[in-house]
Amino acid sequence: VKSTKWAIGIDLGGQSVKLAAVSDAGQLEAFRQVPIQASWSANEMVDFLLLQMDELGQAVGASGIEPQAVGVVMPGLMNDERTRLLFAANLPKLSDTTFLEDLASRIDMPHVFDADCNAAAWAEFRVGAGTGSQRLIVASIGTGVGAGVIIAERILRVRGHVAGSLGHVVVDPTGPGCACGGRGCVEALASGLAIERAAELRADEDPGGPLARLRDQAGRLSCEVLGQAAVAGERVAMEIIQQAGRYLGVAIVSWSTIYQPDRVLLAGGPSQLGDVWISAIREGIREVGPPRVRDLEIEPAGLGPRAGCIGAGLLAIERF
Ligand SMILES: [Zn+2]
Repeated sequence: VKSTKWAIGIDLGGQSVKLAAVSDAGQLEAFRQVPIQASWSANEMVDFLLLQMDELGQAVGASGIEPQAVGVVMPGLMNDERTRLLFAANLPKLSDTTFLEDLASRIDMPHVFDADCNAAAWAEFRVGAGTGSQRLIVASIGTGVGAGVIIAERILRVRGHVAGSLGHVVVDPTGPGCACGGRGCVEALASGLAIERAAELRADEDPGGPLARLRDQAGRLSCEVLGQAAVAGERVAMEIIQQAGRYLGVAIVSWSTIYQPDRVLLAGGPSQLGDVWISAIREGIREVGPPRVRDLEIEPAGLGPRAGCIGAGLLAIERF
């Protein structure tokens, strides 16, 4: 392994933590994904992460890799300095605690904390499908809709540490209520969760229909199940995916008006929905967008679910 610098990248999610040693070229060593409990206190979480870092350090140490810094990324709101966690939707026990301060005090290396969406965007920009972009948006479509924005080779931080709440751009003022307290946000209409909910609703409304039968077979109407059904020509599944895709297209038009991206990359669960979904997104863009955005490059992200972990490591290396 001939790389000059290594850091530990940690991507803390609601159900698991991903970590690895990350090189300055974005290469991963000893990647692992370990389950966590959302019920853990800040202290328990800090203890657990330190244990994981120790084990990782020993695992890569055997191959002569010595990480020099640590990057920890997670969803949620931090203060402007990114030293204190104010709110963590997926890990409510950590919200407004001294979690980051406690973690910082026990990491004996340079370290950096950031939002997971910023880290994923940075990784795509540096070593993924976003290289060479002047203005890049990397959107993660999962339980929610989040995005990082890279402008002129820097992470855009409009307020606090993020570019804004891109998942809460309104795409239908008459749409359903959103977790944020607003109404008709793209997250409420086009996230993976929104797609699965729409499918469940259709199955309930039509107990003898195709989606109810599909649910009986598969147990749950996941994005993966719906994507396969759409590919197999199941019309209702296709309609639900197309509807969500169009809403995402409308949101991308609004994002583009503000950030003027030259490329938008999409990551997350619904990427499994395939061509039906991507086509619907392009259709949504063409339906409402001005000519300027109709040729916008919309592409799948390049690094997959490890992007946050890679970005965490790269941010740690580049900062120190
Ligand atoms: Zn919202």
